[in-house]
Amino acid sequence: MNEPLLPLDEALAMLRAAIPLKGLARITADRDDPALDRSAMDGAALRSMDGIAPRTILGTLFAGDDPSTFHIGPGEAVRIMTGAVVPGGADAVVPVEELRIEGNQLFLLRLPKLGEAIRVRGSQAKEGEAILPEGSPSTAARTGLAAQVGLNPELFRRVQVGIASTGDELVGTPLPHQIRDSNGPMLTALAHRLGADAQKLPSLPDDPESLLDRFSNLGDIRVLITSGGVSMGEKDYLPMVLKELGANILFHKIRLKPGKPMLAALLGDRVILGLPGNPQSAYLNALLFLPLVLSRLEGCPEPDPWHRGFLTEAVKNRGERPLLLPCTLQEGRLTPVRSKGSGDLIALAKADACAWIPEGGMEAGETRYIQVI
Ligand code: AMP
Ligand code: MG
Repeated sequence: MNEPLLPLDEALAMLRAAIPLKGLARITADRDDPALDRSAMDGAALRSMDGIAPRTILGTLFAGDDPSTFHIGPGEAVRIMTGAVVPGGADAVVPVEELRIEGNQLFLLRLPKLGEAIRVRGSQAKEGEAILPEGSPSTAARTGLAAQVGLNPELFRRVQVGIASTGDELVGTPLPHQIRDSNGPMLTALAHRLGADAQKLPSLPDDPESLLDRFSNLGDIRVLITSGGVSMGEKDYLPMVLKELGANILFHKIRLKPGKPMLAALLGDRVILGLPGNPQSAYLNALLFLPLVLSRLEGCPEPDPWHRGFLTEAVKNRGERPLLLPCTLQEGRLTPVRSKGSGDLIALAKADACAWIPEGGMEAGETRYIQVI
């Protein structure tokens, strides 16, 4: 009874440590950024020292134009668009809103300021400058940056996630002693909500051969989520089959209610999340563990699923595990939904969030919660 169960945060840390983060290559500036002085505005490039005097317009420079066709002398200006290179001789860009143009004459509505609206060469990075170290998690912004410095940007690709329910009791049209598979559709929808490239696989019966066959034929699937078959039942074959296949079982059983029988394993370069069959357990463990797995395999920053809220009433928790309790959520206020425990999908479906109730329970007050999505 007194087996020390693995706390949730430690289980998450173990999983994080076991899956190498697929980070980015080192990013270095391949040239000065900007490579030349560029205009930050649509306006006119001119000499600030000529003051308020009208200017003669020599022509127009657009982004991408070669600026060497113009050189700004005293009393001259060039119309210039954002991103175009500031021509020689000019030291300011006056925005179009602050000037008036009549024919080829330009009148300023105010004095130009030296250096205004110019992005100076190398002001963002100098050629050869290290911008991001190797192994950084990928963000869309970093993909853009890789392209900017001439690296072949690795376009973001999702890993494939498969979801398989287990249980002899799962059938399409249940007799009274059977049930429908609710975990399969629920977990597939949840994985989609988390942005995963997920597909529901056929449910599996409780026999070792079927499990063995499933685990041995995963094709492109990098993450397999199962539900059921990881508890103490006599037909809970999943841990045994994984061991037989030489999987590295990272943990089996965590200190969480619901969700204690949770199992995580590495099978080659695949990740197996063996969720307990009870719907609340399966849902919450998927919500807690899948984002971490995806962020590691896909090389992205790990999202933090926790928020802070206010529990509106005292809650008992006699067990020796922290409880995730289905609650409604209104303006940060968490009110418990009547729940019959881990098998109660109705309570979970009515809930907006699950509140963290520490061992021993708590009075009304602040706690963390995870949103039901
Ligand atoms: P297990 O973890 O396999 O012992 O299952 C625990 C409980 O969850 C049992 O009451 C199962 O019938 C139920 N259960 C397992 N898988 C599913 C599923 N896919 N959909 C709904 N209930 C399930
Ligand atoms: Mg089962």
